[in-house]
Amino acid sequence: MKKLSARTNRLSPSMTLAISAKFKTLVREGKDAINFSVGEPDFDTPRHICEAAIEAINCGFTRYTTASGIPELKEAICNKLKEDNGLDYTPKNIIVGTGAKQPLFNAFLSLCEDGDEVIVPTPYWVSYSEMVKVTDATPVYVVCQEENDFKMDLHDLKQAITPRTKAIIFSSPVNPTGAIYTADEMKVIAELAVEHDFYVIADEIYEKLIYDGEHVSIASFGAEIKKRTVVVNGMSKAYAMTGWRMGYAAAPTEIIAAMNKLQGHSTSNPTSFVQKAAVASLTGPKDSIESMRQQFEKRRNFMVKTINDIPGLSCRKPGGAFYVMMNIKALFGREINGVVIEDSLSFATELLEKTFVAVVPGSAFGAEGYVRLSYANSMENIAEGLRRIADFVK
Ligand code: PMP
Ligand code: GLU
Repeated sequence: MKKLSARTNRLSPSMTLAISAKFKTLVREGKDAINFSVGEPDFDTPRHICEAAIEAINCGFTRYTTASGIPELKEAICNKLKEDNGLDYTPKNIIVGTGAKQPLFNAFLSLCEDGDEVIVPTPYWVSYSEMVKVTDATPVYVVCQEENDFKMDLHDLKQAITPRTKAIIFSSPVNPTGAIYTADEMKVIAELAVEHDFYVIADEIYEKLIYDGEHVSIASFGAEIKKRTVVVNGMSKAYAMTGWRMGYAAAPTEIIAAMNKLQGHSTSNPTSFVQKAAVASLTGPKDSIESMRQQFEKRRNFMVKTINDIPGLSCRKPGGAFYVMMNIKALFGREINGVVIEDSLSFATELLEKTFVAVVPGSAFGAEGYVRLSYANSMENIAEGLRRIADFVK
């Protein structure tokens, strides 16, 4: 048999999805498992959004649409980008995709190739590094230290820039650390992108989930940076629509045209009636976002305090998203239940096997010494999960 492509051999499977699948298996087996692994709001999609999809199906809106998305949705996205982010785009600058993952993937594929370098602030979301690898470009990791609230030191960023730098993947709030960049910090990053002429893939999927600080789109710092930015966003997090698979990108028309070619030959349009639901999400009432944000904030405060009260464990207070990076370095070399904890993977594996609490090892995010906990879970589950963790490390 001939071998599989080097491209897929280079990739690691998505650890967030793998652990979440393991958690689901445990639940099916009747185990009392608690999931701190996948980042997925535990709230229901607001009713009016569901109704819009049902109505679209009942009206027979079930055929192919334009591959890049229906005009009505592109208009709604332009209005959103104007109102929320102060960005002027026309529908020609928009592509609608299957989750935010697909526009991200297509943006990387459209911009990057062999010989290019892509700056990836680390800890990074699991899929960024792998998406870069798919394009044959080389990820260049800039380590964001915990002491710096997991934000890039701009001096380190400057050091990482070379003539080959094609793009940076930038997000704020950051998955997995919850770090938030200030407008001033972003401005410097934008200036560097313009000065050294590289693109910014700006993943803004957590913009609505901020507890300290406010969201600014990096594309909003002027025409030069906007020309070099692909703004990516989606409905998964803000509207609790993970399973619907709905996202979008805004960028200069040449980039959107390239992404559209990829989409036209791969997935075509995102699901027709989900696009109608997406219109309802953007144009309908927004109160669910604020109530969800407030509940996440309470859970964050509780989780951070409880973790920092457990001897041997610690964490920073994340400013946004719904993740905590828990520092487990003090446990390394210690024996727990007869197993020596050597790294984040052995910790996560033992914890899941012994206590049925699922967390994601920091190694999946390029950050050994940590595990990521999602607080997109009920207060009861958070309390119980952390109680089991405290017991486990005792
Ligand atoms: N970016 C980040 C940082 C994420 O955490 C996620 C969550 N999966 C995504 C993009 C993609 O989300 P989706 O494809 O569900 O829109
Ligand atoms: N973004 C979420 C996470 O990091 C969802 C899973 C995924 O797509 O990676 O857990």
